[in-house]
Amino acid sequence: MSVTPINASIITIGDELLIGQTIDTNSAFIAQELNKIGVWVRRRVAVGDVYEDIWKALDEEGAVSEIVLITGGLGPTADDITKPLLCAYFNGTLVVNEEVKAHVKNLFENVYRRPGALLERNLKQAEVPDVCTVLHNARGTAPGMWFSKQQEKHKTFYISLPGVPHEMKGLITNQVIPRLKDEFSMPAIIHKTAFTAGQGESMLAEMLVDFEASLPESVKLAYLPNYGMVKLRLTGRGNTKEEVDAVITPVFDRLLKEVKDFLVTDTDEGLEIVIGKLLKEKGLTLGTAESCTGGYIAQLITSVPGSSAYYKGSVVSYANEVKTGVLGVLPETLQADGAVSEETVTQMVQGAIRTLGVDYAIATSGIMGPDGGSPEKPVGTVWIAVGNNKETRSIKLNLRFDRQRNISLAAVNALNFLRKFILTNS
Ligand code: AMP
Ligand code: MG
Repeated sequence: MSVTPINASIITIGDELLIGQTIDTNSAFIAQELNKIGVWVRRRVAVGDVYEDIWKALDEEGAVSEIVLITGGLGPTADDITKPLLCAYFNGTLVVNEEVKAHVKNLFENVYRRPGALLERNLKQAEVPDVCTVLHNARGTAPGMWFSKQQEKHKTFYISLPGVPHEMKGLITNQVIPRLKDEFSMPAIIHKTAFTAGQGESMLAEMLVDFEASLPESVKLAYLPNYGMVKLRLTGRGNTKEEVDAVITPVFDRLLKEVKDFLVTDTDEGLEIVIGKLLKEKGLTLGTAESCTGGYIAQLITSVPGSSAYYKGSVVSYANEVKTGVLGVLPETLQADGAVSEETVTQMVQGAIRTLGVDYAIATSGIMGPDGGSPEKPVGTVWIAVGNNKETRSIKLNLRFDRQRNISLAAVNALNFLRKFILTNS
């Protein structure tokens, strides 16, 4: 069944966004929240603190969208011009809103506890155009403002919010989303994500040619590659959740079968979460011996809440003395095979299992660049080993990116290698 989408545009205002001094995280948050309730984000525009540019963006976005969300430019300083501009755009007059005024005074007197710091320019925040609905900003002084305008073909709601992310988020969640749900009857949207590793985006696309051709019109497939993994996301749209679910569920089951050899999980979760669940389930522990990844694998694993249940620790064995002294790698091995070798990472795994007292260990050693390569071991050569007290397995990677990406890719490959090892050895 086809559904007419409700279009939204997001306009972010501020010179700091254009010069890259502030990263525009507001758009991403707003887009995610709108997407959840079934609004289609059609365009995102960033403009500087320039009157004509903001005005033009309001015209252009209002012409294509029923919802225009604006952030920034509401502060008490001279570069913040959004409020007077919106007032003029909607033919209003600035008037003092007594509730906002009381709220600003209360913030300074009782919350910030700096009554003397309250300036005339802060009280100016209580002035709002008489043609808008004021949205209470519990987290700050600048209120949100809700305007509407009849366009040629549709009515558009313009919603202006402060740029401070924490304040913007409170307003979106508590004020904007509930009001939008009242104003529109939203289509239902369901996303289902299959998480794959070990196969590139193009190869997956080749494997899925027939599957894609057979997709119902209301379901779309997106490829989201990132550091050695590809997420395959199905998005289904319809009038009700039940209707969408009935269409998308069998399609998703087929997708899982098509990619079963590369499937990591059928939920939208990272490898570190998947591994954590596996280890917890089995009541087994993990440690790491990291040379070229420098603790990055440990960082990924411990970013999961509750990881102390299965993760014991890491030896960041960057120098040869630490590989031999702490992990017991044989000096002869380092002499004969070098630090970046199958034999070294194998001994690192066994050393980590002994030293850290764990059931499983991961070890990495490689040349991440930009320097340090040789004809036999060029930059990007990485050896990874995983094992338990019975068996150790190793693989060699030939990475070809910059240092940071090489480190991330080595870590993801190591985690996936461990995942497969645990599944076949426990
Ligand atoms: P403003 O409302 O323009 O005074 O912005 C207040 C603060 O919010 C600025 O100092 C920025 O650091 C931050 N900010 C503004 N716009 C954004 C945005 N799109 N994403 C993230 N932070 C922002
Ligand atoms: Mg600003």
